[in-house]
This record gives sequence, C-alpha cells and structure tokens, in this order.
Amino acid sequence: MPLKEDVLLVIYKEFEKWMDEKIACKKGCAVCCTQNVTMTAVEGEFIHRHIRKQGKMEWFAETMQKKGKTRRPVMTTNGFAASCLRGEDVEPETYGNNDPCPFLNENCCSIYEVRPFSCRCFASTVTCETGSTAIISETYLSASSAVMQIIEHLGQGEYLGNMCDVLLALCDLPENRKYVEYLPASLSNQSRVNVVKAEPLPGFLLLEEEMEKVGPLLEAIFSHEVSGGRSVENILNNRG
Ligand code: SF4
Ligand code: SF4
Repeated sequence: MPLKEDVLLVIYKEFEKWMDEKIACKKGCAVCCTQNVTMTAVEGEFIHRHIRKQGKMEWFAETMQKKGKTRRPVMTTNGFAASCLRGEDVEPETYGNNDPCPFLNENCCSIYEVRPFSCRCFASTVTCETGSTAIISETYLSASSAVMQIIEHLGQGEYLGNMCDVLLALCDLPENRKYVEYLPASLSNQSRVNVVKAEPLPGFLLLEEEMEKVGPLLEAIFSHEVSGGRSVENILNNRG
C-alpha cells in the first residue's frame, strides 16, 4: 500500500481509539448517509484500491450513475483555517445535497471498511431519526476539523471535493482506466470541474481549552511510526 494510505490508516485508527465509547453511531445507522460527503484524493485512492481488489469496477460505475447534483467546494478545510488565521470574516459553507449516498444499500454502507473520514467522524450522542439532526459535542467537531486538516495536508496539491466527484476524477489514474468501458465520459469530465486542490495545513483553529482533550489525539497521530520507522509527523513535514 502506498505510504500516504498507510498514514491515512493510522489517522483513521487513532481517531477511532480516541472516540468516546458513549457514541450512538454504529454500522447500519444511516440517516446521516447523504450526498454531502467531502474527501481527499488519498481517501479516494484507498476506496478505489478496495473496489479493484474486490473486482467490483462495474458495480462502482453503476453506483456512480445514481449520484445526484454535486458542486465545487468554495473553500477547503485548510483554506478556511488559513482565512480565519488571517483574521478574515468567513462563513462556513452551507450547501448540501441531502439525498441518500449512492453507496448506501439497505441502510448499510457498501464500502464501510474504507469509508472516508467525514463518515467516520460523525459522532452523535443520540441515535438520529429521519428529519432530526445529530447531536455532536464541540470537542468532537473541533477534533474532526483538526484531523480533516491533517488529511488534507497529507493530500495537498491533489483532488479534494464531494466524494463522488473525487472518485470519478480519479478514474484518470492508469490503474483505473478500465472504468472508461463503463462510465459516460461526461460524468468524469464534470467531476474534474467540480474538484479543487487540497492545501497545506496553515495551523489549527483549536482553543486552548480544547487542546486538553484534542492534544493527545494529535500527539498520538503525529508520533505514530509507519513502515520504515518514520513518524507520521516526519512524513507530513517531508522529513527523514
Ligand atoms: S450521526 Fe446519527 S444517523 Fe449517523 S450514524 Fe450517528 S447516530 Fe446514526
Ligand atoms: S460512504 Fe458509506 S458511510 Fe459514507 S455516507 Fe456513504 S453510505 Fe454513509
């Protein structure tokens, strides 16, 4: 597996370890599974590798044709953080498509093992009902944003956008060329227009009081060593 995907797995695992056990979210709970998922190319390549390994490329192409309307993000998480750190007045994006995610099958995620971070960090303290919203603590929201910033940094310069757009745009990769047989070119072309580039981490937006709970998570991610004995921090900083 490529180094970036090794790091991604470390991030997923450390976040899972850090998550509170009182969270109501579990496999099969799917009210939150909409077409609002944003992710990076690293996460998309991880999903594509899984689909290729399972020989489900034709299924993937059919699934993508069920996707609804998506659009280009105005700002990435790191772009938003950079503006905030410069003291600019920025509003978080509110656009969304609440139709069910095309990967949802009978209330279960068909790519659960490789789902992106946005799906992993949704952590409600109560089980959501249709029409209700998840109840997520401020600490979880701050921790999730910080981890999203790290994942974006990992994939800097690569695609970032709606999950379906990133997956379709990645059909350009030589290992995914087989999709040309199954997918209409217009779908991939539009998706390439809809994605933006991931940006480097400009700094976190964590308050001092949040650091007490979120700091150990960041420390666990940064100090974790991957194959070859390099720490995630060194890999993210392109060192040693
Ligand atoms: S956020 Fe709500 S709908 Fe989604 S998994 Fe958690 S409890 Fe279920
Ligand atoms: S990828 Fe899976 S977990 Fe994420 S929104 Fe879609 S069905 Fe839900």
